[in-house]
Order: sequence, then structure tokens, then C-alpha cells
Amino acid sequence: MQCDCCSATYRFLTLTCHKLPDLHNSVALTKRMVEKKLQNQVAVVTGASSGIGAGVAIALASAGATVVVNHPVAATEADAANILAAIQSEGGTGIIFQCDVSNEEEVVRMFTEVIARFGTVDILINNAGIQRDASFEHMTLEQWNKVIAVNLTGQFLCAREAIREFLKRGIQPRKSKAAGKIICMSSVHEVIPWSGHANYAASKGGIMMLMKSIAQEFAPHKIRINSIAPGAIKTPINHNAWATPAAEAKLLELIPYQRVGIVEDIAAAAVWLASDDSDYVNGTTLFVDGGMTLYPGFSENG
Ligand code: NAD
Repeated sequence: MQCDCCSATYRFLTLTCHKLPDLHNSVALTKRMVEKKLQNQVAVVTGASSGIGAGVAIALASAGATVVVNHPVAATEADAANILAAIQSEGGTGIIFQCDVSNEEEVVRMFTEVIARFGTVDILINNAGIQRDASFEHMTLEQWNKVIAVNLTGQFLCAREAIREFLKRGIQPRKSKAAGKIICMSSVHEVIPWSGHANYAASKGGIMMLMKSIAQEFAPHKIRINSIAPGAIKTPINHNAWATPAAEAKLLELIPYQRVGIVEDIAAAAVWLASDDSDYVNGTTLFVDGGMTLYPGFSENG
């Protein structure tokens, strides 16, 4: 199929490029990422029917992993199926799986069924996340609870199931030096306060200490747990922040590297953190943010 706006023939682009023009680059980069460093490993990617999760799922598959493309509800099934089709068109393997990560029963069922089908889980990408923005005095308990439930409790529930499996299985040296790898999708807002988004920033700050605490607890079992903290990446979650030239120019004031990120920037980091190339990296947050956390406001003001 050809893309409506660019004549590209990549299947993944035909799904998304009218929304996410920079994915042109992204797919080209993914295609270069062919070394099969994750061969024979099974990866669960939560929230993988769009944005960063979709890009990570495709990149893990091109690195050889069998990928579970998780999506939350029936309405996201078609998008998840399209991501799986993109994976399969490149010779990759995987399944789609509907599961709300904030629902304990559904998470347990997802891991049970994936392990029954593929034998184990080797990699968890704890990616699903949402925003429900409001000024603090107007923030409802529902808005607070929903963001904490998906962004933080969801990561707890999925990490717990993954760790139970890693402990049970142990290391299989022909696949990986580690018994398992977990990558938590955090945000620069695990350290940058964000007015109007207190629920989101609190969830990401919580992810930081969840990740570090369990990394410390399970390092002796050779389980590696790290976070990726994206800066501004072009996805549906922040569409308004980059959709017009004026919005993008304003966003660039926060990014010393002077480019808004693309999902492939995050996907490349995820493949590295999931592979043995990062075997001695544990309990850390990798900021993939073009320098957003460098306090750019101080560059001409101090
Ligand atoms: P996105 O909206 O495209 O992706 C979020 C995904 O989570 C969607 O596919 C959605 O269906 C899924 N999801 C929502 N609720 C779910 C649930 N209950 N169970 C399972 N899946 C669920 O946005 P994105 O930018 O790709 O976000 C992915 C992650 O990256 C999030 O954790 C987000 O906080 C983080 N992040 C994004 C940026 C950015 O600039 N885009 C920056 C920092 C952090």
C-alpha cells in the first residue's frame, strides 16, 4: 500500500504517517535495526497499539523478539492488529492481546496465557500511560485515580507478574545473561515538575522509585529493571504540543538539541536496554530527551 501523503510504501507508514510525519525517518531507522539481539525472547509491550509502544514493539520484533502487542479495549484492537501486521510483514512474530493494565485479573490472565502459548516472558516494556490534565484545584478524584491506576499501578501489576515468571524460570544463558528485563516508560516529568499535570508527574515520580526499589530487590536474581524517560516525542498523547509550526517552535524552546523526538529515538533505547549490550545497567533512568532536563531556561539567564 502507498501512503496518501508521501507515496511511501511501508505498511507501518500507511497507518500513521498522516498523523505522525516524522515516522518516515522512524521506519527507515527501524529497518536498519536488523541485528537479532533478542532472538528467541518473548516481549510484552503494554499500550502498543499506538505511539511509543507501537514503535518499540516493531523495533523489538526486528531485533528478533516475539512480541505481544498489548492494547486496552475492543476499540483499540484494529490499531493493534495493524501494528502486528507491520511486524509480520517484516518477518517478525507476535500476537495482539487485549488487557487493561490497571486491572489485576486481566494482567494475570495476559501473563498466564502468554506464558502458556510461548513458554515464558523474557522482556516487559511497561509503556501504557495516559494523561487527564487539570489545574490542581479543579482536578477530580476520578482524574487523579485514573492516571495513577494506569500509569503506576499498571506498571506494578505487570512488573509483578513478569518478575514471578523470571524467578520461576531463572537464567537461560543461550538467550540472555539476565533472567529477565523490565523497562518502565517514565518521563522527564519524573524529575521536572509539571503544573496542570500533578497526577501525571506524581505517577512518573512514583515509577522512578518503583523501578529503583525493585531493581535493588531483584538484582541478585539477575533481573534487570530500568526506565526510559522520554522528553517530547511526537505521538498522539501530546499532539497539540507539536501539531502546528507555532506549537512546535514553542516546544523547541524547551529542547536544547532543537528537534522534537520521534518514537524511534525511544525504540532504539528500548532495544539496547533489553539486550545484553546493557548487561551492567540496572536501576537507572535513561533520559532520551534532547537535553530537556538540562534546564535550558538557564542557558542565557544565569
Ligand atoms: P499514546 O497515547 O500513543 O500511547 C499510550 C498507549 O497506552 C495507547 O496505545 C493506549 O491505548 C495505551 N493505554 C492506555 N490505557 C491503557 C490501559 N489501561 N491498559 C493498556 N494500555 C493502555 O502516547 P505515547 O506518547 O506513545 O505514550 C507512551 C508512554 O510514553 C506513556 O507512558 C507516556 O506517559 C510516555 N511518555 C510519552 C512522551 C511523549 O512525548 N510522547 C513523553 C514522556 C513519556
